Amino acid sequence: MYIDDNIDEIKEKIEKAKSRVGRTDDVLLLAVTKTVDYELIDAALDYGLVDIAENKVQELVKRMDHYGDGLNYHMIGRLQTNKVKYIYDRVKLVYSLDRMNLATELNKRAASQDMVIDVLVQVNASKEETKAGIFLENLESFVYDCLELNNIRIRGLMTMAPDITDESELRSVFNSVYEISEKIKSRGYNELDMDYLSMGMTNDYELAIEEGSNIVRVGTGIFGKRNY
Ligand SMILES: *Cc1c(COP(=O)(O)O)cnc(C)c1O
Repeated sequence: MYIDDNIDEIKEKIEKAKSRVGRTDDVLLLAVTKTVDYELIDAALDYGLVDIAENKVQELVKRMDHYGDGLNYHMIGRLQTNKVKYIYDRVKLVYSLDRMNLATELNKRAASQDMVIDVLVQVNASKEETKAGIFLENLESFVYDCLELNNIRIRGLMTMAPDITDESELRSVFNSVYEISEKIKSRGYNELDMDYLSMGMTNDYELAIEEGSNIVRVGTGIFGKRNY
């Protein structure tokens, strides 16, 4: 099955990218399954992947209902506050915390079940209008404000690179997010684990890993071109 070959190839490239910069820590390959047929997702799961991601709540819920427990479900897209209730108690990690009212809603829902939801704060490092996320200069105060919410736990940062091909520009975007992540980590807040940095998709995950990413979100690279 070509899915196996794709996964092998990506894993090899991940290892090579790590070794270019002397990293020995783990990088999670997150399979982005949006619009993908079950036959292909099954193949990826049979080949050992257990972490899948969707960018829409209703699609993630479909995957959860289809596969049940035993997989890790990741919410990588924009999250409306009125849809939090459908996923908050089944999702492994929310990647798109980008505003305070979403933090409050996630916190409230989690508190109602006496649980803690793991989240990444989405960063808009290049200030593109089409992208969600907190601007770099506002990030520290946003994270600080979230520390009071005891039922969400910030586990790190996520960013989407701008649609540019210039390698040095891309690198500097990724590096700016890495730097601020390290800076926040160095504050040593007890309520905070800055252990994840999710940067890089099919076209830029190697570069992102060289710049410090430890969760890459790959769709096309595993499953082939999406038909939408
Ligand atoms: C679709 C998507 C990806 C994966 O994109 P590919 O280019 O297919 O690898 C990653 N992250 C987010 C937030 C996405 O919506």
